Amino acid sequence: MAREKKVEKYDVVIIGGGPAGLTAGIYAGRARLNTLVLEQSLVGGLATNTADIENYPGFPDGISGHDLADLFYKQAKKFGVNFKLTNAKSVDLTGETKVIETFRSRIEAKSVIIANGSKPRLTGAENENDYIGKGITFCATCDAAANTDKEVLVVGSGDAAIEEGMFLTKFASKVYVSIIHDEGIMDCNEVSKNAALANPKMEFLHNTMVERFEGGEELEKVILKNTKTNELIPMDLDSCFLFIGYIPNTDIYKGSVKMTDRGYVLTNANMETNIPGVFACGDVRETMLRQVATAVGDAAMAGVMAEKYIAEGEIFEDQIMNGNGVVYCYDVTNELQRDFLTKFTDIENRYPNFKYHKVDTFKSQGLMHRLGVKSCPAAVIIQNGEVVEIVDECCGAGKIESRLDECKC
Ligand SMILES: Cc1cc2nc3c(=O)[nH]c(=O)nc-3n(C[C@H](O)[C@H](O)[C@H](O)COP(=O)(O)OP(=O)(O)OC[C@H]3O[C@@H](n4cnc5c(N)ncnc54)[C@H](O)[C@@H]3O)c2cc1C
Repeated sequence: MAREKKVEKYDVVIIGGGPAGLTAGIYAGRARLNTLVLEQSLVGGLATNTADIENYPGFPDGISGHDLADLFYKQAKKFGVNFKLTNAKSVDLTGETKVIETFRSRIEAKSVIIANGSKPRLTGAENENDYIGKGITFCATCDAAANTDKEVLVVGSGDAAIEEGMFLTKFASKVYVSIIHDEGIMDCNEVSKNAALANPKMEFLHNTMVERFEGGEELEKVILKNTKTNELIPMDLDSCFLFIGYIPNTDIYKGSVKMTDRGYVLTNANMETNIPGVFACGDVRETMLRQVATAVGDAAMAGVMAEKYIAEGEIFEDQIMNGNGVVYCYDVTNELQRDFLTKFTDIENRYPNFKYHKVDTFKSQGLMHRLGVKSCPAAVIIQNGEVVEIVDECCGAGKIESRLDECKC
C-alpha cells in the first residue's frame, strides 16, 4: 500500500536554492514568514560552479561562487528559513492554497516563489549520456584540479566557456576550445575574448562541433567535426567541459505558468507571474541578463511581493470579507479619484452600519484583483461577507448610496 504523504504548511515555499532562492528566503524569513526552500541538489545553485565571481558588488578581490553561496545560506538560516534537500516533483498553483509535491511530502503554501534556475544544455552528440560525470562536465571549479597537466576540451564560446576555459589553464597543460563560429568570432564579451586570445595555453578550433564521445567506462576520446569540410578530428582527452548555454528548469510549471517558447517564465517588473501569489526570480525568468546580481535583485522583489500578497490575503479575509462593507478602489495619482475620497467619507458618515476601506491601487493591485475589480475607480459593496455589487464610475456617489439604501443594514 502506498505510504500516506506527510502534509506540511508554510507561508512561502521557494523552489530552488540558488542565489535567487536564497535571497528570496532572506527577505521572506526576515518578514517573519514561515518559509521553506526546496533544493534538489546543491544549495547555491549554478553559482557554486564558478571559481571566481569578480562582478558581484561588495567583494573587490572577488569571491568563489561556493563561498558566496555559503554566505547567502547562512544569512537565510539566520532569519529562520527552513531547507529541504529534495526536488519539487509537481505543483498545483492555481488555487488559493498552492500545493507542491515532493517524494515524501505534500507541501501547502500561501505563496510560491519559482527560483529553479536552469540546467546546462547538451550537445546532442553520440554517446553523450554515457559519459556525463565520467569525463563530460559542466563545472570547471569542481574538475579543474583533477586535470592538472592534462589537455582538456571546452565546448562553447560564450562568457562562461571562455572565462572558465581561462580558469582551466591554471591547471591543464592545454585548453582546446571548440567554437561553432568562423575564425575570430566568439559569443563572449570583448575583454574575455582578448584575454583568451592572449593566453598561450588556449587553442581555438573554429567551425567545429562535437560528433561523438568515445571511451570505455570513462571518456577517452572526443571526435570533433569541421562543419565546413566535414573532416573528423579525433582528440585524445579524458575531460570535456560543456558550456553551450542553459535550459530553464520549468517542466513542472508547463500548462499553468505562462512562459516563453524556450520555457523561461514570464513576469512583470514586480516578479508576478500570471498566477496570483506565484512569483519568479533569477535565471528561470525571461530576462536580458542572467547573473548573481540580477538573480538577487529579482529575488528581493519576489520576497517582498510574496509578503505583500500574504498580508493582503489576511486583510481580505479578516477585515474586508467579514460582515457588511464598502471598498473604494482608487488610483492615488488620479486627481478625480483622489477627490472622491471626501465624498466617500460623507457616505461613511451617512451609512455607519458599513465598514469602509480605501484601497490605493497605485501601490498594489492585489486587493482589487481579489475583489474582482477590473478598473478604477470602483466601489465594491459587500453584504454578509459576499460581494453584492461592483459600482464602477462611482465618482458620482449616488449609485453607491442607492445601493446602500437597498442593503438596509
Ligand atoms: C560556469 C558559470 C560561471 C558563472 N560565472 C558568473 C559570474 O562570474 N558572475 C555572475 O554574476 N554570475 C555567474 N554565473 C551565473 C550565475 O551562476 C547564475 O546567474 C545564478 O546562479 C542564477 O541563480 P538562480 O538562483 O536564478 O539559479 P541557479 O543558480 O540555477 O539555482 C537554481 C536552483 O534550483 C534548483 N532546482 C531546480 N529545479 C528544482 C526542483 N524542481 N526542485 C528543487 N530544486 C530545484 C537547482 O538544483 C539549483 O540549485 C555563472 C554561471 C556558470 C554556470
